[in-house]
Amino acid sequence: MTEAPLRWQIGDAVVTRIVESTFEGGLDTFLPQATPEAVLAIDWLRPNFVTAEGILKFSIHALVIEADGLRVLVDTCVGNEKPRAAFAMWDMQQYSFLQDLELAGFARESIDIVLCTHLHLDHVGWNTMKIDGRWVPTFPNARYLIERREMAGLRALEGTPPSEDGLETISKAMLSDSILPVVEEGLVDLVDADHRVSSAIRLVPTPGHTIGHVSVLIASGGASALITGDCIHHPCQLAHTDWSIVNDFDPALSAQTREETFAALAGMPTLVIGTHWPAPSAGHVHRADFGYRLGEAPQDRLSRTSRSSEGSLQTPTGRSLPTS
Ligand SMILES: [Zn+2]
Repeated sequence: MTEAPLRWQIGDAVVTRIVESTFEGGLDTFLPQATPEAVLAIDWLRPNFVTAEGILKFSIHALVIEADGLRVLVDTCVGNEKPRAAFAMWDMQQYSFLQDLELAGFARESIDIVLCTHLHLDHVGWNTMKIDGRWVPTFPNARYLIERREMAGLRALEGTPPSEDGLETISKAMLSDSILPVVEEGLVDLVDADHRVSSAIRLVPTPGHTIGHVSVLIASGGASALITGDCIHHPCQLAHTDWSIVNDFDPALSAQTREETFAALAGMPTLVIGTHWPAPSAGHVHRADFGYRLGEAPQDRLSRTSRSSEGSLQTPTGRSLPTS
């Protein structure tokens, strides 16, 4: 097992983190402003999120939400045996993810919904697995929810000539090995960016990293949590919400989404669970001397918030999370 599962109780819902891999550096070139000097100046990042040398730490993990009688798997990591030549660290991997998922109590046949926050290679990998040389859905009894503009953007690459661009080549490979096989089995539901999954779970539009990127809001029993997806990659972007990664679809919109999201969450009891944040992977957002910072996560404890209508997140002044 890569790392023991972390688990958070959100009212009657439970969120479990299943790690596929963790690493230091590796994505630093995507966040050029986050130099060792700049991140060492943010003292609360050490030791969990930054090494003593100022290198960023990341985690690739999936989050299983158990709520309303459903098991919802949010983001499916990199996957095994996927050809990703332009991204050597994720090329043709062999992870123990499926075994770790099962050890945590989640047989793949028991997953009801697979939810991809966006269609990048580290969020769709376990949509499929290779059996007898064929890509087949890993979660045969699940509906796979994909935001409709995400799907349209990726499918626009179908039938286009081979590209010199390594990332575009990966996108095409991802489409054919991780998306189309679940489409062909009739398992995909295209949804809007504010889709309600169940009484306790709904999507929140957090565009910028990709055109139709979504985060996942869980509201149950007066408690709430937000799974970020990649509207933020690393906690250093709390201190500097204007630090966008270089391959964001719209870096300015990505920065605006972060600022509005964390302005709305600052000082609120909503637990924020980061999709690429290494352990403890979650916490509460507070205003800081510059930007925002992450406070302690009440792991295995209830995170209480005042009841609000339909689980919406609002600041004391009534400002909501961005909805467009
Ligand atoms: Zn990612």
